[in-house]
Amino acid sequence: MSLELSVVVPMYNEQEVLPLFVERLRPVLDATGADYEVLAVDDGSRDQTPVLLQRFLRDWPQLRVVRLRANAGHQAAISAGLAAARGDWVATIDADLQDPPEVIAEMLEVGRRDEVDVVYGVRGDRTSDSPFKRRTARGFYRVMRTLGDVDAPVDAGDFRLMSRATVDAVNALPEQGRVLRLIVPTLGFPSTSISYRRDERAAGESKYPLSKMLKLTLDSVTGFSHAPLRLATWFGLAGFVVATGLLVYALAAKLLDVTVAGWTSTVVIVAGFAAVQLLCLGILGEYVGRMYTAQQARPTYYVAYDSLEPRQGEQGR
Ligand code: UDP
Ligand code: MG
Repeated sequence: MSLELSVVVPMYNEQEVLPLFVERLRPVLDATGADYEVLAVDDGSRDQTPVLLQRFLRDWPQLRVVRLRANAGHQAAISAGLAAARGDWVATIDADLQDPPEVIAEMLEVGRRDEVDVVYGVRGDRTSDSPFKRRTARGFYRVMRTLGDVDAPVDAGDFRLMSRATVDAVNALPEQGRVLRLIVPTLGFPSTSISYRRDERAAGESKYPLSKMLKLTLDSVTGFSHAPLRLATWFGLAGFVVATGLLVYALAAKLLDVTVAGWTSTVVIVAGFAAVQLLCLGILGEYVGRMYTAQQARPTYYVAYDSLEPRQGEQGR
């Protein structure tokens, strides 16, 4: 079965907002005239979310529910949705109505008209977010753009529309701890952005405590940058130089006879081992880095097209 649009909605303990969300999303999607499915990914909710979803299933034929056995986190829930989605286009949207559902219709229109594969929703106005959230978010995008060398649009969260080709490419990545908002831009598909006003959460509380924000940041840094590992290499090298210097000094002091008994051997042993260890740690780090990259198994290039096998509509783009 082929569908035009899948809307993936990760939700964790969203009983307060769910009825409001459904009430607002459904007419928007019905109005597009598209053959669609709404993929509610229940991320192991422990409140009434699954019960409510079962109720909505009864009279909304386009609704589909995928429940995860345990809370896997926002990014993993979206990944589960992307893996299950059947649409030619797949939109991802938060359940709390911070991302206006109406924008999905706009994204679909832009995606088709401009022949792009990805339409990012960019938060033009974030005044509804707390100053803390805004400041940490700004820091996040800035650090990732410099450290991670990712050309991610600033202030694009996980509200976006992706073509089937994009979703297939994301699904093909085997890596763990995926940060989709950074991975999708690295896939290099033609893209555009739509600016929208980020509203306040319609009901309930944020499901993103500081601990989850920290995890996302750590995943982002370690997933996109070897800078911390490189730092270990440089520290190791610096330590090696210092320890070697100390070793030479200790031996010279011994030869010049300006030392007490036992000092030289102690320093030689300590400094010698420290130098070797630090250097080895640095070398190990480099190999761990390479293994890590290999394990992520990201393609190193993406062919836009090949003149021998032109894909429809791809030529001359
Ligand atoms: N979410 C999820 N699993 C989690 C945490 C959050 O599926 O472990 C969902 C949540 O239900 C919402 C979206 O991810 O649909 C964004 O979460 P939230 O709005 O709480 O984050 P915030 O907007 O405060 O950053
Ligand atoms: Mg939210």
